[in-house]
Amino acid sequence: MNWRIPLSDIDIGEEDEQAVLGVLHSKWLTMGSMTQELENAFAQFLDSKHAIAVTNGTAALHLACLAIGLGPGDEVIVPSLTFVATANAVRYTGAIPVFADIRNQEDLNIDPQSIEQQITDRTRAIIVVHYGGYACDMPSIMGIAEEYNLIIIEDAAHAIGSQLKGRNLGTWGKVGCFSFFSNKNLTTGEGGMLVTDSDEVAEKLRLLRSHGMTSLTWDRHKGHAWSYDVVELGYNYRIDEIRASLGLVQLGKLERNNGQRRHLSQLYRDLLLELTPSIIIPFEDNPGFSAAHIMPIVLPPETKRLNFMEHMKEQGIQTSIHYPPIHKFKSYENSSKLNKVKLPITEDVANRELTLPLFPTLTENEVNEVVKGVQEGLLMNF
Ligand SMILES: *Cc1c(COP(=O)(O)O)cnc(C)c1O
Repeated sequence: MNWRIPLSDIDIGEEDEQAVLGVLHSKWLTMGSMTQELENAFAQFLDSKHAIAVTNGTAALHLACLAIGLGPGDEVIVPSLTFVATANAVRYTGAIPVFADIRNQEDLNIDPQSIEQQITDRTRAIIVVHYGGYACDMPSIMGIAEEYNLIIIEDAAHAIGSQLKGRNLGTWGKVGCFSFFSNKNLTTGEGGMLVTDSDEVAEKLRLLRSHGMTSLTWDRHKGHAWSYDVVELGYNYRIDEIRASLGLVQLGKLERNNGQRRHLSQLYRDLLLELTPSIIIPFEDNPGFSAAHIMPIVLPPETKRLNFMEHMKEQGIQTSIHYPPIHKFKSYENSSKLNKVKLPITEDVANRELTLPLFPTLTENEVNEVVKGVQEGLLMNF
């Protein structure tokens, strides 16, 4: 489909091409100096002690769950209104994801009160997701974690460059997980990053990333090691130099591009508020500084969303849904515990949410056109 205004687009230029070609010419393609540079730059950008690059955001989440010691019998509280990887990562370890509701139609993030209601004596951790780059209520969630002795993992896949109270999202919890998937604010095609201030967790993450081996091919190439031991059941979740070099260039453009996303989001908000008062625009009152990853709206309850999306499609405008809630997926149906979950707000929003196009090279004219399309869609009697 050739969209006139696609949902997202990426900022790839000559500098990205040069970086990738440079790696190809160097003939060192797997984890090496580029990966190290990206990790250093990322740690510095986020003001985090350690950054560990991995092959994708899902691998980051999996390793985070392993590094904090999750296993069978453990429960982890997660939102259902997120990408399925958030909960899958918990299940990879044998632990059980327990879903909490979101706060309301304006705040699509996990509700601290609902978290507290889901806590049992098997609860070990909470995974928060900063939906669209908008901060969860971290002060409240940190308070709960402290009171019940729970570990916080942040799924910051949407939130690279987001802050709350001057502190970067991804650095509030024990471990923060980022994704560099093609539609994320910083992309390497596939890729991901973990951040932590804990030396112990960082060491474990580095081991688990590469088969549990005590030295890497890179170390041996540099003459730092001759052999290795295997001290953990690890994985091959490494990134490669091609993607690391792309990540470095993308990181250099991130703040400018995030600024453009924020600017366009604000324009959407102003126009929608004025022209489509029946629509709810989430996160108007979010206290944080957002990476503005996506532009979600919540349609009026009577609007038939699929017809609405079809109407947008006829204008050449691509829209999407974030997200079909995880607890409704077939693969999540079987657990008796999960059959009992009631997430009324998640279910209501999941039926009404629509995501509008947002990317750094979107123009103000295009934002105007999208809003016009939304305005017309609301007037149509499907
Ligand atoms: C993209 C995304 C992931 C998974 O990242 P991948 O790099 O695609 O594995 C996890 N959680 C959320 C919220 C995401 O948006």
